[in-house]
Amino acid sequence: MHISQLFGQGRTVFSCEVFPPKATSPVDTIYRTLDGLKDIRPDFISVTFGAGGSKVNQTTREIAGIIQNQYHITAMAHLTCVAAGRAEVDEILAQLKEDGVDNVLALRGDINPDIPPKTDFTHASDLVTYIRTHGDFGISAACYPEGHLESPDPVSDILHLKEKVDAGAQHLVSQLFFDNEDFFRFLERCRIAGITVPIEAGIMPVLSKSSIQRMVSLCGASMPRKLTRILARYGDHPEAMREAGIAYAIDQISDLIAGGVDGIHLYTMNNPDVARRIAESISSIRAV
Ligand code: FAD
Repeated sequence: MHISQLFGQGRTVFSCEVFPPKATSPVDTIYRTLDGLKDIRPDFISVTFGAGGSKVNQTTREIAGIIQNQYHITAMAHLTCVAAGRAEVDEILAQLKEDGVDNVLALRGDINPDIPPKTDFTHASDLVTYIRTHGDFGISAACYPEGHLESPDPVSDILHLKEKVDAGAQHLVSQLFFDNEDFFRFLERCRIAGITVPIEAGIMPVLSKSSIQRMVSLCGASMPRKLTRILARYGDHPEAMREAGIAYAIDQISDLIAGGVDGIHLYTMNNPDVARRIAESISSIRAV
């Protein structure tokens, strides 16, 4: 099933993201995460694609296959064209097909100054075009409610996003954000620009001060006053911070659903207990 077909069924789509275990850990450590996620029955689970060489990327394919075939949950494999040239993309697509994985999140990837990027594709839209013409895959792509960090202005970012959708992306997943107004403004700009595909809101629960500081420095998400107050008050109290972070994520999600969002994509950070708490809290809200 292509992920775009999950939308428009009368309830908000809910999906989760996991990442492959570190190269030094056995792939089996992912089973604990997936065992925890299977009970909350996300509509699909996506698996990130590392910048760090073939072992990590082999694991992305393996985990997507496990989700699809052992857990019987629709899987989406991330794929970046800075880390994979045409030959690797061909190999990955063939293996995904063999494993019954029909969905790919086509990305450019972050350019790591220490690893020379592959050059067969320049932008994610080039990868989208290639995948569309090389097999029957559901193709998703990334979007940025506050603009991509490299983008000179929001207008060109939206126009490039439109190119990605016109190239064949059928569904978009957003970068994490903490202020829903940023997302709603972005959604409006997309719809005005003629981007009509479903757009899922990426939500990352803030579980510790250090993790959020790292994420914000990587992706440039802005922090609303409500969140900075939480960090100031609870940041040095891990248990309280975790509770406040989960409550913040649930509040953000219920407001997004009230505003008619197509779907919620939860960055689980491989923490199934937090994902379960959030999924349980929003289960009736999603169905309205
Ligand atoms: P693009 O769509 O190519 O955009 C990158 C920049 O180029 C943007 O500024 C855009 O405006 C600009 N641009 C696009 N087209 C053109 C054009 N024709 N001319 C000029 N400029 C253009 N990274 C990983 O390494 N692994 C992952 O698994 C992963 N998963 C992610 C999942 C989600 C939901 C998101 C939001 C991000 C993810 N990333 C991942 C990070 C992502 O790879 C980076 O944000 C990367 O810098 C951009 O990737 P993109 O696919 O959005 O690129």
